[in-house]
Amino acid sequence: MIIESEDFDESAELRAVEPKFNEEDNQQENILRPRYLRDFQGQSELKENLEIYIKAAKARGEALDHIFFQGPPGLGKTTLATIIANEMGAEIRLTSATALEKPKDLVGILTNLTRGSILFIDEIHGLKKTMEETLYIAMEDFEIDWVIGQGPAARTMRINLEPFTLIGATTRAGAVSKPLENRFGIPLKIDLYSPDELGLIIKRSSKILNTKITSKAVELIAESSRGTPRIANRLLRRIRDISEVEGSGDIDEKMAREGLKRLGIDENGLDKTDRMILKTIIDVYNGGPVGLEALAASLNDDAATLEVYYEPFLMRQGYLKRTSRGRCVTNKAYEVLGRKNADQGLLF
Ligand code: ADP
Repeated sequence: MIIESEDFDESAELRAVEPKFNEEDNQQENILRPRYLRDFQGQSELKENLEIYIKAAKARGEALDHIFFQGPPGLGKTTLATIIANEMGAEIRLTSATALEKPKDLVGILTNLTRGSILFIDEIHGLKKTMEETLYIAMEDFEIDWVIGQGPAARTMRINLEPFTLIGATTRAGAVSKPLENRFGIPLKIDLYSPDELGLIIKRSSKILNTKITSKAVELIAESSRGTPRIANRLLRRIRDISEVEGSGDIDEKMAREGLKRLGIDENGLDKTDRMILKTIIDVYNGGPVGLEALAASLNDDAATLEVYYEPFLMRQGYLKRTSRGRCVTNKAYEVLGRKNADQGLLF
């Protein structure tokens, strides 16, 4: 497997519940990353569909149709791409739109792909327009036009490519251009995981890490993982660290509760930033509606981070609603923060 680039986060102190990728994850996730579909927990409908597409492509002896994954970070898009490669017995090349600075970077990769191999482009919404156009032809006809020289002397050379499968992934589906999205034959949406599904992942990971964990502890960590496998694994590792230093190394209910508390996660699975978001909407915007940009400015955060990292979980847990006029908190948010809703009963 060739790793072209990864989205490392440079910030020193990452939140334990941050779904972004950090360097420690890079080392640890390789151990925990499922390699075949049978190890990939949850998302049963998506898995069944993938299994069929893979079987059919293998039976025909053809490259798999291009696949488009959309969903919040840490849900398994990269993992699925590597699983697909393993299941197909194909080579995979991993890159991301940010690593592809110039058209020649993309052309270099495309022309080196072997027959039936897989190209994974993460955060594909960030691809520059000129490269998108190169990709259209490559995806449709397995060829590219390469311009040599400049000005009147410039000429176009057609280069044939080996048939390949492009797997594009994005955390921001709305930011992907329609012409690009339409060229993927298999669009797949990955939703946040249920606590039960996360429980399966935590059990599997603790087995690999050789950590004894009780069912109640699994349940508590699963509830606090924001529907995200990457966070579930990270919380498990952090709490295991605490237990190894201060306890027996095993994780029981008490250790899980203590660990979560130390990591700044309350009994509802909310961390400091979540509570800050809800508080700001209530205190500054009277419960909403408030536009994303205004909210981000009040929180001193950027809008994309709010939209991609925080909102899906807050909405899924029923604390936040998106309306045509902006974001509003629900009565549940007032309750969890111990605040009184002046409009109670009127809005929701
Ligand atoms: P994404 O590409 O969507 O940001 P990744 O594929 O990097 O997410 O997944 C993050 C980590 O979470 C992986 O390393 C893997 O260990 C774990 N993971 C994700 N999905 C699953 C799953 N369904 N079953 C088991 N582990 C998973």
